[in-house]
Amino acid sequence: MKKLIIAAAMASVLMAPSCSRTARQAAPDDDFNYHVDRFADIEVLRYKVPDFDSLSLNQKILVYYLTEAALWGRDILWDQHNIDNLAIRDLLENVYTNYSGDRNSADFKAFETYVKQVWFGSGIHHHYSTDKFTPAFSREFLEAQIAALPADKAVADTDHLLEVIFNPEVAKKRVNQAAGEDLILTSANNLYEAGLTQPEVEAYYASIKVPGDETPISYGLNTRLKKVDGKVVEEQYKIGGLYSSAIEHIVTNLDSARAYAENPAQKQIIESLIDYYRTGDLATFDKYSIEWAEDTASQVDFINGFIEDYDDPLGMTGAWESIVNFKNIDASERTEVLSANAQWFEDNSPTDPKFKKDTVKGVSAKVITAAILAGDAYPATPIGINLPNANWIRAAHGSKSVTLENITQAYDAASHGDGFNEEFVIDQPTRDLLDKYLFITDNLHTDLHECLGHGSGKLLPGTERDALKAHGSTIEEARADLFALYYLADPKLIEIGLLDNPDAYKAEYYKYILNGMMTQLMRIEPGKNVEEAHMRNRKLIAEWCYEKGRADNVIELVKDEQGKTFIRINDYQALRNLFGQLLTEIQRITSEGDYPAAAELVETYAVKVDPELHKEVLDRYSHLDIAPYKGFVNPVYTLVRDEQGNITDVKVSYDESYTDQMLRYSRDYNGLRK
Ligand code: ZN
Repeated sequence: MKKLIIAAAMASVLMAPSCSRTARQAAPDDDFNYHVDRFADIEVLRYKVPDFDSLSLNQKILVYYLTEAALWGRDILWDQHNIDNLAIRDLLENVYTNYSGDRNSADFKAFETYVKQVWFGSGIHHHYSTDKFTPAFSREFLEAQIAALPADKAVADTDHLLEVIFNPEVAKKRVNQAAGEDLILTSANNLYEAGLTQPEVEAYYASIKVPGDETPISYGLNTRLKKVDGKVVEEQYKIGGLYSSAIEHIVTNLDSARAYAENPAQKQIIESLIDYYRTGDLATFDKYSIEWAEDTASQVDFINGFIEDYDDPLGMTGAWESIVNFKNIDASERTEVLSANAQWFEDNSPTDPKFKKDTVKGVSAKVITAAILAGDAYPATPIGINLPNANWIRAAHGSKSVTLENITQAYDAASHGDGFNEEFVIDQPTRDLLDKYLFITDNLHTDLHECLGHGSGKLLPGTERDALKAHGSTIEEARADLFALYYLADPKLIEIGLLDNPDAYKAEYYKYILNGMMTQLMRIEPGKNVEEAHMRNRKLIAEWCYEKGRADNVIELVKDEQGKTFIRINDYQALRNLFGQLLTEIQRITSEGDYPAAAELVETYAVKVDPELHKEVLDRYSHLDIAPYKGFVNPVYTLVRDEQGNITDVKVSYDESYTDQMLRYSRDYNGLRK
């Protein structure tokens, strides 16, 4: 599939541990406690919502109802992830809250870690690797706790649930991408009824696609496939269809929000979304997406629906997500400058002119403040989003690209002093460079990737959107990253006032290569390959440049006296040229839909891990105690009313713990459970 998107999956990838920002200028109010919880390979942070109080009362109330609409979709995602997730969550939470034994015992501690992992994964699989979690407590322990539950807390079918939790062969992987396997049969998500095969699903979609349709609907985006009387049929997610009870709550709150819309266009957007939830009609979703993409005037904005298709090994069905946000007006100047120059970037890229867009249309970009993260964007979240996903809508109506700066700010503030740079960055001058320029160049990289990278270039007539099949996401992310990397070193960025030092880009180049070749490996278990698209893309780019620059020693792997491996970049300009060369090739592959070339690149550079280097990275990393993955708790919004019941304000507070938030969401937003 060729997705011109930035996904939720990206979030953790770009920002999580990729590189620390040790000792960069301290955040202005460091009494804010960013650190919320730490377990397994996860750290939970919290983020601030600066300037919430600068919104008008109407805008605050609008945000409030949109956040409610966001939270009501939580259980949809859990159920999309796996058919047993919600029942397992009930079981685990009932045991967790009713446990009367020693909460400091080894068994309970292991159980608590598992519960927190399941919350973080929105189900029994890791949010990133999609491997099933392995409990570190015994089945007997859990059985004993289940037996001790009060009668009204009993959960049906516990034998089956225990089997799902403890049998490593059951529901092994949520999204299986392994070449040569039946990706539908072997993926444990609930987007397809158990037993459906990949050939059946592919044949079904082939049968409903309209050949030559220039404005196709996003087939399968809001449906689960199942078999009825031997025939494959779609069950729609809509009111009256699958997930109806949760969607009704979403619609009720969207309807409340509608009354506080900032302008008629925004009111229309909300109405179209409601209409789509009522009918399940994907043409209505396209109408909504067009209206949404064209609304650049409203300050408050939101995503709410079945959006990114990373959870589907075939890239059809969207995972439910919502992000409510408002524009950070000062910081948006940066992306507006990029957007204003979009055509210059398109015209001057090193790619073949026949793959360029004559007119780059409607690249809108802004820096936003996230107010709530939900569904597929919670607790792990993206730092940049570029929507809508439908290619033809992007081409004809433009797209919106956003950077979530209060989230990147929280990552940055939380990573101060974590020791990462001291361990992995080769020398003090390079560390100084990163301290000084990584935050701004990392943000700029995201802006370039989102505002310009994904939107650049075009497919040749006749090239299918999904021509690159399973390698589509990796190649698409590589294309956007290369576009960003190539231009980070361009004097144009200084000319338009986005950077003030011609060497600043080196900070991002160093971090990118270090991450792609070495430090991202800490997310991979020993013996495993790189699978996730964004990780593959980074490895592909870094390893390709290393290989192609070898004769000129552009990137060097050096060892210190203790045998630790370090990256040294000897020629940054040569590295920029390599990025340009690879961009040219990847654009060609994309435009022509050259699947064999895509497969060759991915298989040569993006997948296989050098076991020795991998072991070294894991070892060095383990001494730092930095969580490989990070996510966030949300702030809590409360309506303030006067004696007559009129809403007079919306308060935001930041003191909820991770556990309290998860238990509260399960209790108060259980749209599919009652
Ligand atoms: Zn992307």
